[in-house]
Amino acid sequence: MSLLVTGKIQVLPEDVSCRIAAGEVVERPASVVKELIDNSLDAASSLITIEVEEGGRRLIRVTDNGTGMNRDDAQLACQRFATSKLQTEHDLFSLSTLGFRGEALPSIASVSRFRLKTVSSESLVGTDTNSEGGTVWDIQDYAGVPGTQVEIRNLFFNTPGRLKFLKTVSTEFSKISYIVQQAATIHPQIHFRLLHHHHKVLDYPAVSTFQDRVIQIYGATFLDRFLTLNQTTGPFQLTGFTVSPHHAKGSRTPQEIFVNGRPIKNTTITHAIYEGYKSFLPKGKHPQFIVCIQLDPRTLDINVHPTKRDVRFSHPEVLHSGILHAIKQIFFSGSSFAINPQDAVPEERAAPPPIPTAKPTAQSLVVAPVSVSQFSPEIGNRHATHLSIFAQEPVATYPVQAQEFHVFPLGQIHQTYLLGQINQDLYIVDQHTAHERVIFERLLRSWSQKDVSQQGLLIPEPIELLPHQGALLDEWLPVLSQAGLEIDQFGPTSYVVRAIPAILGSVTVGPLVLELLDELSEWKSTDSLEALIRPILASMACQSAVQAGRTMTLPEISTLLQDWAKENFPMTCPHGRRVAIRHSLDELNTLFARTSE
Ligand code: ADP
Ligand code: MG
Repeated sequence: MSLLVTGKIQVLPEDVSCRIAAGEVVERPASVVKELIDNSLDAASSLITIEVEEGGRRLIRVTDNGTGMNRDDAQLACQRFATSKLQTEHDLFSLSTLGFRGEALPSIASVSRFRLKTVSSESLVGTDTNSEGGTVWDIQDYAGVPGTQVEIRNLFFNTPGRLKFLKTVSTEFSKISYIVQQAATIHPQIHFRLLHHHHKVLDYPAVSTFQDRVIQIYGATFLDRFLTLNQTTGPFQLTGFTVSPHHAKGSRTPQEIFVNGRPIKNTTITHAIYEGYKSFLPKGKHPQFIVCIQLDPRTLDINVHPTKRDVRFSHPEVLHSGILHAIKQIFFSGSSFAINPQDAVPEERAAPPPIPTAKPTAQSLVVAPVSVSQFSPEIGNRHATHLSIFAQEPVATYPVQAQEFHVFPLGQIHQTYLLGQINQDLYIVDQHTAHERVIFERLLRSWSQKDVSQQGLLIPEPIELLPHQGALLDEWLPVLSQAGLEIDQFGPTSYVVRAIPAILGSVTVGPLVLELLDELSEWKSTDSLEALIRPILASMACQSAVQAGRTMTLPEISTLLQDWAKENFPMTCPHGRRVAIRHSLDELNTLFARTSE
């Protein structure tokens, strides 16, 4: 009898390993677009056209006028680890190209119906290769102008799991549009065009300077709001634009980082920039920036992840302190772009956050009665807290769930926490999270009862968006309108906000919408309407709730505690933060070793 012992380990077939690798490189249509644009850039193209259908699910076609490939190379290009950009491992640290891993084309081809048409500038006859799921089924001669066209149809047709994770057409398209915009930003000398269903969405003809490209993308007023960075700090060079502190917004767009010409995300750099702004930005504002860092490629590891989105620096601490100082320096430098240091808003002098009020302001006209009690800024009084100990009488009494509540406002601690007695219990309440939750509950209730009262703006608030933000907003307009936000489009990327939910009082409208857009990109189309509406309402509630650091008077404290009790003492805000700490009379008695009567 012979025993045949076979091991359990086997080498995966090429097509399986390729599809697994594809999972890392090709997450969504936008990742395909990024890889194809990178290849076109590496091929020294001066015009790159990206055509997309159904947010890239049905078709992605990238055409360039670069060097093209001859037949041998065209065939090799679709094999794994085949690259023209790297010969030895050492080359990894002196790369001048965006690609080097030789896995993008085979990975993309393995999860799509793929067609590569290419004509090398040296040969007259081009090659037309067709494959499906990575298997080539046709190679032919092809006559055309030098350059390359890669066509991807039915992405993920053979990996339904991936397909399921894709978001809506407009969300996927918005991500593509963002990728194109990023590539265009850092390559001003290249003409980029993006078409969706044959409509031209982006068109950035070649310009000679980075500044001109930035103006093409972000508009002519960009330079009025941004300071110019141009510093050589030790081992690296920092160029680009960073917002003047008093023009900073609540949104994180743009926050672009390019290292040696690659768009990346990197916490060291972002952190350094935020630190640089630290004492200059009012609360709730973010710095906007487009920074380009140029450094010795030997001090940089770009091979951290297949998507090459993150990089590793050999001396992150040097980079961190260099950027931090460079940012601080321009706020004080004498350059013509630099602002007067007095214009900066130091933290302690930061403009007070908007305080919700029921009163119509110069900007807003109340068309529907404001149904809830709001704080009025006029009641704000620095000495309010001193009065608190004299408040002996319950200020309000009204029923919640057939119960009577007695509310005694006691005061405020650190202009952040409210102290109060409700019935027998002592409460320490975070003023922001409590107010946020109250507003949220009211918004949610009025939304579910289809009774959102709106407040029309006397002067509609114009907002100018980037194309990828506009694409997103278009899709969510009906949902936002149900939440009480009335926004109309009046130009390709121009919108006006006409009305907001009355409950929000005099919230600043522009930042509210921009903040919402940051969140919109994360939503899935498959979510239920309520699941969609909740984050919108939470975000609106957060923006309009009273901030920490605002003095509140006793009547205001009382109103907020009443409103919160009325909502049945919710203990967390919509984002999950704690609202209150409660000590019952029994607990206090136990703490003080007193037997209760
Ligand atoms: P990588 O870019 O990492 O080398 P890819 O799989 O993206 O790997 O591409 C493989 C090779 O195909 C490249 O090294 C390049 O030689 C060739 N190639 C791909 N796209 C183009 C293009 N648009 N123009 C010219 N050559 C290209
Ligand atoms: Mg590549």
